[in-house]
Amino acid sequence: MKEKLTPYLKNLSGLPAIAAQYLATTAEPNACDLEYDDPLLEDEHEVVKGLVHKYPNRALIKVSYQCAAHCRFCTRIRQIGTNAGNLTATDVSSIMEYLTRHPEIDDVILSGGDPLYSPGITTQLLEQLRHIPSVNVLRIGTRLPLQLPGAFQRNTIKELLSLIDETGKKKPFFILLHVNHPDELTTEAMDVIKLLRQLRVTLLSQTVFLKGINDEYDVLHDLYTRLYHAGVIPYYLYHCDDVNGIGHFAGDIAKETAIATRLTATLSGIACPTYIIDIKNGHGKIPVPLNFISDRKNTIDFNGKMHEYH
Ligand SMILES: *Cc1c(COP(=O)(O)O)cnc(C)c1O
Ligand code: SF4
Repeated sequence: MKEKLTPYLKNLSGLPAIAAQYLATTAEPNACDLEYDDPLLEDEHEVVKGLVHKYPNRALIKVSYQCAAHCRFCTRIRQIGTNAGNLTATDVSSIMEYLTRHPEIDDVILSGGDPLYSPGITTQLLEQLRHIPSVNVLRIGTRLPLQLPGAFQRNTIKELLSLIDETGKKKPFFILLHVNHPDELTTEAMDVIKLLRQLRVTLLSQTVFLKGINDEYDVLHDLYTRLYHAGVIPYYLYHCDDVNGIGHFAGDIAKETAIATRLTATLSGIACPTYIIDIKNGHGKIPVPLNFISDRKNTIDFNGKMHEYH
């Protein structure tokens, strides 16, 4: 994956947490051994081009493989920055046809690549998705507010945001911001979050644990407090996927579990995400048990004291 930063991120690249997420380094192994290049088996579950149907009631659409900037730890490192994910009008029709034939899919996630970075195709998809009766819930995952906040001045994005707002009037609509570090929440990014809060959507966030970047209690406590205060509900905190070429970002599960336990003990319930691992070989996401239960009988409270829970 080529190094790619926006001018906005280049200006911030003096900050270690930004540099480590975006600058290519010699720590990166050569991703030529492809043993784990798709550990989540997304390709196997791609039922028609662009549509990943892995969980019974949910489907994920990769709107493109393009992003404003390339995160070195991207799970989809094998695809990002290539044109192979561009969807044609025929692909869009095939996706809609599949969703119509599978009314058990009630929840559709637009991902990629970054759907807000490709407003043309995302608009085309939403125009059709919003009219499929069995699709009750829509979500968009994005990192654009943190990579190119200036883009929200563009007409194409403003028009897409109006369509999202209009759709959100009829169906629950979630925007999932991928944020990993408080240093990403600049004044510009916070202004975009304020703008998104004007829409009829619910703002959620997702975070990836990145070794040496955000795997500290204080860093994440600060991140989640600031997101919560900005009206963003933290959703998932991921263990970094075991993908070739990004293994140096994956941290220790015991350390992460201890941090997630402490976050749960101290943050407001709404401000605390669920710590998740997406199991390799395509077995799906599981919540990691935190350190509150010591055995079948006892629970360990927020102060580390043991109590019987019945
Ligand atoms: C994560 C994911 C979803 C959504 O999962 P939730 O747990 O409902 O957020 C859907 N499809 C795929 C392929 C996913 O990876
Ligand atoms: S914005 Fe998301 S999809 Fe794009 S490179 Fe970063 S993590 Fe990957």
